[in-house]
Amino acid sequence: MTRYLILGSGVAGRRAAKAIQRRSADSEITIVEEQQNPFYARPMLGELFGRKVDAAQSASKEKTRLSELGIKFKMGAKVKEIRTQDQSVLLDTSEVLFFDKMLIASGVRTARLACDRGAAAGVVYMDRLEDIQALDPAIDRVRDAVVFGSSYQAFGALKGLRNLGINCTLVIPEGELLGQNLDAVAANILEQRLSQEKITVIKQSNIEFLEQDGGTLRGVVVTGGNKIPTDLLVVAAPQEPVLDALGSADLKTDRGILVNAGLQTNNQNIFAAGDVAQLATESQGATNTQSGWLRAWKQGNIAGENMVSGDVNITYDGVASIRTRVFDLDLVCLGLSGAKGEGIETQSGNYPYEEMPYIYKKIVYKEGKVVGAIFLGDVNEAGIVEGWVHKEMAARACDKQVLDNMFELQYKSSAAYGVLCPVCKFHMQIDNKTEEGTIISCPACGIDFRVERLSNGALHAVPV
Ligand SMILES: Cc1cc2nc3c(=O)[nH]c(=O)nc-3n(C[C@H](O)[C@H](O)[C@H](O)COP(=O)(O)OP(=O)(O)OC[C@H]3O[C@@H](n4cnc5c(N)ncnc54)[C@H](O)[C@@H]3O)c2cc1C
Repeated sequence: MTRYLILGSGVAGRRAAKAIQRRSADSEITIVEEQQNPFYARPMLGELFGRKVDAAQSASKEKTRLSELGIKFKMGAKVKEIRTQDQSVLLDTSEVLFFDKMLIASGVRTARLACDRGAAAGVVYMDRLEDIQALDPAIDRVRDAVVFGSSYQAFGALKGLRNLGINCTLVIPEGELLGQNLDAVAANILEQRLSQEKITVIKQSNIEFLEQDGGTLRGVVVTGGNKIPTDLLVVAAPQEPVLDALGSADLKTDRGILVNAGLQTNNQNIFAAGDVAQLATESQGATNTQSGWLRAWKQGNIAGENMVSGDVNITYDGVASIRTRVFDLDLVCLGLSGAKGEGIETQSGNYPYEEMPYIYKKIVYKEGKVVGAIFLGDVNEAGIVEGWVHKEMAARACDKQVLDNMFELQYKSSAAYGVLCPVCKFHMQIDNKTEEGTIISCPACGIDFRVERLSNGALHAVPV
């Protein structure tokens, strides 16, 4: 009987376990997970923060389902060391587990701030349910908060905090919001949306110093010396891959664990998937687009299949992307969405962005081929255009009706409408005649959502 060991029960790890079980029902599958209760939807942490949903609503029922399939769990146990020489792992409980095939799906975590000595109450890293729950009773006393970073986690935190009526300042090291992935128009629209929520954005700044009084946070000092009084600091970037268990394991790493397109590391019995994995084609600089729920979901499945078959026939060649929601604005960035310079042309149509600032769509062409796209406020055609980016479709071959739907306001003739799942941001096609209030389930994460129409006319999914 083949022994499969999975490090991490996030979406990549769980999906791999299911794929292995489906292909090889009599194998022994064990998932080792350091959190006591990791079965919650990570992208819902912001809503949880803002008490829009409670822990029960963000919980996934997968533990029961996977247990029923015979998959074993070791919860609250951390893999301390992967020992490639005898194919085993050492847990922090001193237990040793042996494996024939292993998947590392340990995800990413927010890097500690250099100025954080760990003593100040009022500093939270936007990573885990238990951190948010620990802060919850104290949040009623918070009037002002600083959120640091331009990331999924930061947008989630801002939404939660504003829901509680807390004044927010966003501090980002970059010159623009999601600078690598957006152009000036899209970044400006996002900033306008944040300013509508009364959020001040401070750019090109880091958190240099934490001002405390008796161990309680009173303010932060940012680059240049300005002090921002605050009761709470939410650190939401940068994200770094969790590589703690690698120790002496001879696995190649760069930003994350290096894998081939079949998600196999340089050790043929060890695979990596999800946020911790880095494909050779993914450059070190492009960190924003290397993580994401959907990428982890797809990679978990592929890794599981390949671990069973023993070869790497199934490959991951997904388009680098960002899929998220900033307050009520769905955002999808595909491929080289922020590209500029020689050989680059763009098409963004005739939308009256001044009067209708919360919809923006753009296609990026390089030497006449589609290489990227931005969808903001209405992601209807994002699924189709992702296919074009994937194939590097020639501009002349792009379907004119799709382009008209994207760029000409008078056309809206498609029979299906694209929306993002509010939890995992899976892009779904729903019938354009779907009525407001209809309840639909996401085929990827299984969450139920309600269809709503926004003031800009776009359909939108909200969790129920
Ligand atoms: C607040 C927030 C908002 C987000 N919003 C979006 C969004 O809008 N769109 C989007 O696409 N993505 C979003 N994400 C990111 C998305 O959740 C991740 O891309 C996805 O969860 C990655 O899945 P994974 O399985 O690779 O890793 P994770 O889900 O991080 O799972 C890794 C697991 O490994 C465990 N682990 C790590 N090391 C060890 C060890 N040594 N021993 C045992 N266990 C270990 C961890 O405890 C964890 O449970 C968001 C994330 C957060 C936190």
